[in-house]
Amino acid sequence: MIAIENIYKSYRMGNYKVQAADGISLQIQRGEFVAIMGPSGSGKSTLMHILGCLDKPDDGKYLFNDLDINKMNDNQLAYIRNKYIGFIFQNFSLLSRVNAFKNVELPMIYGNVPGRKNRINGILDSVNLSDRANHNPNELSGGQQQRVAIARALVNDPHILLADEPTGNLDTQSGKEIMEIIQNLNQEGLTIALVTHDPNISAYARRIIHVCDGKIKSDEIRKNSVTVDKQEIDFDDNKLKGKSKENIFNFMEILDSVKMAVSGLLVNKLRSFLAMLGVIIGVAAVIAMISIGQGAGKNITSRIENMGSNVLTLFPARSRGPGSRVSSASGGSVSLKLEDAAAIKKEVESVKNVAPVANRNAQVVYGSKNTNTSVYGTQPEFLEVRNFKVAEGYFFSAKEIKARLKVAVLGRTVVEALFEESEDPIGKNIKINRLRFKVIGVLEAKGAGGWRDEDDQIVIPLSTAQKRLFGNDNLNSVYIQVKEEKLMASALEEVTGLLRKRHKLREDDEDDFMIRSQAELLETVKSTSRTFSMLLAGIASVSLLVGGIGIMNIMLVSVTERTREIGVRKAIGAKYRDILTQFMVEAIVICVIGGLLGIMAGIFSSKIMSMIGGWSTLISALSIIISFSFSLIIGLIFGLYPAMNAAKMNPIDALRYE
Ligand code: ADP
Ligand code: MG
Repeated sequence: MIAIENIYKSYRMGNYKVQAADGISLQIQRGEFVAIMGPSGSGKSTLMHILGCLDKPDDGKYLFNDLDINKMNDNQLAYIRNKYIGFIFQNFSLLSRVNAFKNVELPMIYGNVPGRKNRINGILDSVNLSDRANHNPNELSGGQQQRVAIARALVNDPHILLADEPTGNLDTQSGKEIMEIIQNLNQEGLTIALVTHDPNISAYARRIIHVCDGKIKSDEIRKNSVTVDKQEIDFDDNKLKGKSKENIFNFMEILDSVKMAVSGLLVNKLRSFLAMLGVIIGVAAVIAMISIGQGAGKNITSRIENMGSNVLTLFPARSRGPGSRVSSASGGSVSLKLEDAAAIKKEVESVKNVAPVANRNAQVVYGSKNTNTSVYGTQPEFLEVRNFKVAEGYFFSAKEIKARLKVAVLGRTVVEALFEESEDPIGKNIKINRLRFKVIGVLEAKGAGGWRDEDDQIVIPLSTAQKRLFGNDNLNSVYIQVKEEKLMASALEEVTGLLRKRHKLREDDEDDFMIRSQAELLETVKSTSRTFSMLLAGIASVSLLVGGIGIMNIMLVSVTERTREIGVRKAIGAKYRDILTQFMVEAIVICVIGGLLGIMAGIFSSKIMSMIGGWSTLISALSIIISFSFSLIIGLIFGLYPAMNAAKMNPIDALRYE
């Protein structure tokens, strides 16, 4: 069954070389029970590891059932270990976090064996452990743990059982029980090779080999071996060649990994939480920041839309330096007059209404209270063009304009600043820049927040403003309401032409006015707020990145910490992909849980911000999806390196790791 020839293996210890296997040749037939004996350090374990395909010799030939082991790649070796070799270690090497049943199940999972439950219970029964199936290794005695290890070694029905001092850590009685189990297995036809330095143990064997300093000293057959029918070993060629067509992602295996990852995370709650914290904060920050950005954007856009998308705003141009006829002295400009507004209304067919405006900031006093606000001198069309409504009292009409009456319509914010809640402002006299005005109405509130408070204003007749308050007849702007949205472009063109004509501008003169359309403004604001959102999200995703680095750190620690576990898994047949999957799943589980907690934290904090800070926030499903998938990707990327580190470990080095 096994034939090795001239096996050499040396270890380098600093400057000098230890020859652990020094030209060993050996054959083991089917049905044999071989004990390998020798003093400590003589190379017994080294030989066992080579026989068990856990380690590769430096030189020499190894045929396992006529299969050349030296030609096998790592995945094929994993398959052979999983399917044909059962290995028992001196220190049991069980997975400490899972129970006996799960430990025994592991080789079947890696071997993709179906219908596991009965087989596992049967094998546990045969080592007298059926009542301990649900116990974790730390709840079992040494003898019981070693029996679990035997069950695990046998569960895939191997062709040979290799044991490295299986009784070395046990008391005499437990050792005897173990040896009886092993002897029975041999009598049933299982080939066995075990290492021991105890003559009482080797007494069970049919053949004893003594090794010393990496060489075989003696080889004696004490009893004849059980004869076993020369059963042909049915190697699954595809699996051996590593070409197995089994699912790349074994669903059950992944489910098991998820369960294990979750239970692992629960064992170390604080550390898992800290590992997740970066992702939690990152996701929460992305969601909260995007919600603020979008909330602000939505707020401004709705205000602009509120003003009507069919409104053009006409401004006098800013001063362009000496020589220009245009000046912007004292806030207004000489270039825009009431007659311009009237001409636009009269001559441009597509214009429905115009509202000329002269405005200035002014100090307003009522009784002992005062406030600073914008005073708008305008005409009655202002209400319709700017989409305001009167809540109380009335708005001035042509009559008040003609008489230049000192009447005022207040915005809600001004009312709140000047009057007690119980007081009715209508009919009261206020002072604007020391002039007495009578309050005749209050505007309906448009709501606070965002860019400019449209309720913080006082509206008075244009004539009063120009003649009595500001002392000149310049306009600061003219709101032009176009009949239909689709006429905006032509209206803009016509108004431009008309004004150029009225202002007697020559062909090469620049306009001495500017016209802004709401649609244009809306576009600017939208793109600004998009940039703003992206910027905030960008800043927030940096913390997500930092979170990912935190996860990588924890995963690297976890891989190092569990090196022995990785060694055990590989020894019983885990392939590169199995270990990779396991650790990737863990990293992803951390990120997914962190991401979900982060989403909750993000929604919660943006709600808090809008409640306490008065910010307008808008939580979009897209930001949740984006930040969540981003955290998943972070888990994938930052989990990959630690998982690859784990997966590429050499089984025997990993097992030796302390
Ligand atoms: P045994 O099992 O008979 O006690 P081993 O096979 O474990 O002996 O070791 C044989 C020799 O090889 C010892 O001298 C040991 O120090 C050395 N050795 C074993 N493994 C390593 C290793 N990974 N690195 C360095 N030296 C090793
Ligand atoms: Mg040893």
